[in-house]
Amino acid sequence: MTSTQPSPASSLPVIVAGGGIGGLAAALALTRQGFAVTVLEQAPEIGEIGAGIQLGPNAFHAFDALGIGDKARSRAVYTDYMVMHDAIDAYQVGKISTGEAFRQRFGNPYAVIHRADVHLSLLEGALDTGRVQFITSTRVSKVEQDPDGVTVTDQHGTTYRGQALIGADGVKSVIRETLVGDPARVTGHVVYRAVVEKEDFPADLQWNAASIWVGPNCHLVHYPLRGGEQYNVVVTFHSRQQEEWGVTEGSKEEVQSYFQGICPTARQLIDLPKSWKRWATADRDPIGQWSFGRITLLGDAAHPTTQYLAQGACMAIEDAVTLGEALKAKNNDFVQAFDLYQKARISRTARIVLSAREMGRIYHAKGVERLVRNDLWRGRSDERFYDAMEWLYGWNVANCLSAAQH
Ligand SMILES: Cc1cc2nc3c(=O)[nH]c(=O)nc-3n(C[C@H](O)[C@H](O)[C@H](O)COP(=O)(O)OP(=O)(O)OC[C@H]3O[C@@H](n4cnc5c(N)ncnc54)[C@H](O)[C@@H]3O)c2cc1C
Repeated sequence: MTSTQPSPASSLPVIVAGGGIGGLAAALALTRQGFAVTVLEQAPEIGEIGAGIQLGPNAFHAFDALGIGDKARSRAVYTDYMVMHDAIDAYQVGKISTGEAFRQRFGNPYAVIHRADVHLSLLEGALDTGRVQFITSTRVSKVEQDPDGVTVTDQHGTTYRGQALIGADGVKSVIRETLVGDPARVTGHVVYRAVVEKEDFPADLQWNAASIWVGPNCHLVHYPLRGGEQYNVVVTFHSRQQEEWGVTEGSKEEVQSYFQGICPTARQLIDLPKSWKRWATADRDPIGQWSFGRITLLGDAAHPTTQYLAQGACMAIEDAVTLGEALKAKNNDFVQAFDLYQKARISRTARIVLSAREMGRIYHAKGVERLVRNDLWRGRSDERFYDAMEWLYGWNVANCLSAAQH
C-alpha cells in the first residue's frame, strides 16, 4: 500500500479519507460494487463521539441498501412523535405523530440512536465484507491524480495509491480545501451536547419523542437513547463573542448565562450534564461541483450544514448509496460515475443546507417573529405534515439517481 509503484489500476483499492459515518457508508457501498477499500483515518481509533442522532426513514432506506438495516434497527429507539414547545411559556407549537401512520406513509420509522451505534453498525457491515482495510493515525495532507489513479500523501509523507478517492473527511475537509478552497460560514451559534443517564433525567421529560424547546436566540433538544436508559441533551445559543469553528470543553456557567427567561421545565435541562462538549458551528454555501475526475467528496466534506434539520448524517449515508448506484449505472467508470453522483446529490443536499438555515431562524425567533412561528402549524394535521416531508423522507434507492436526469 505504501508505494507509488505502477500497478494495474483494477488491483488497486479505492481510498476513502475519513472513517466517520459517511466514510464507512461509502466503504460499504464500494465493496458492494466489487471494490477493495482502504479507509485512512486521522484518529488513533475508528470511533464516534458520545452523542445522539436522529434518523429519518430515508436513513433506514439507505441502511437497507447497504445491507445493515437490521443491525441499525436493533440499536435504535423508535419515537412516538416529534414535538416543539415554546421555551418561554411552554406553549406546544407543533406535534407530529411518528407512529404507525408515519411508518406506513414512508415505509420506515423515525428513530433516535447513539451515534456510536450507527457507526458500529456500519463498521460491522464493512468488516463482514473482508474487503475494507482501516489505517488509523493517518491524516491525509495531499492528494494528486493522473489518468490511472490517485496518490494520497499523509502527514508523515507516506503515499497511498488508489483507483479513486472519496473525500469523507468531514466539515474541515482537506480534500475540499485542495479542490474547492471555499470559506466556511461560521454561524456564531454554539452547541453544547451531553448524554445523561435515565435516573438523572427529569421524570416529567422522559418522553418517547424527539423534543425541542425553541426560544429567543436559543433552543434545547432532548430524546431517549439505548432503550430509554439514556437521554441525549443538546442546547444551542447565539454566542456573545466572536467564534472560531471547532470543538472545546464546555462550561456550565456559560450555558446557564444564556438561558435566562426560559420556563422552568425547559431550564432544568441545562442543569443536568456533569460535563459538556462545546461546538462552535459553521456551514458552507452549497457548491455546484464536488467531483473532480477520480476524486469526489461525500458527507459533511461535500455539504456541511447546520444541524437544524437533523439530516447531516442521513445525507452522508444517502450519498454513499447514491455513489454505489452511480457506479453500477456507469459500469464502475469512476469519472462518469462521480459526475452522475454529484448531479443526483447537489440540489437535494443544497436544499438541506439552505432549509436548515431557515429552520434555525424559525427556532430562534423572538418578538413578533416568535408569534408568527407559534402560529405556523396551529391545527395542522399529521397528513399535512407528512405531505410537507415527502421530499425528504420519500428518498430511496430506487429514486436516488432521478434528480440527475434534469
Ligand atoms: C449538534 C449536532 C447535531 C447533529 N444531529 C444530527 C442528527 O440528529 N441527524 C443527522 O443525520 N445528523 C446530525 N448531525 C450531523 C452529523 O453529525 C454529520 O453530518 C455527520 O457526522 C457527517 O459525517 P461525515 O462522515 O461526513 O463526517 P465526520 O463525522 O466529521 O467524519 C469525518 C472523519 O474524517 C476524519 N478526518 C478528518 N480529516 C481527516 C484527514 N485529513 N485525513 C484522515 N481523516 C480525516 C475525522 O477524524 C472523522 O473520523 C448533527 C451535527 C451536530 C453538530
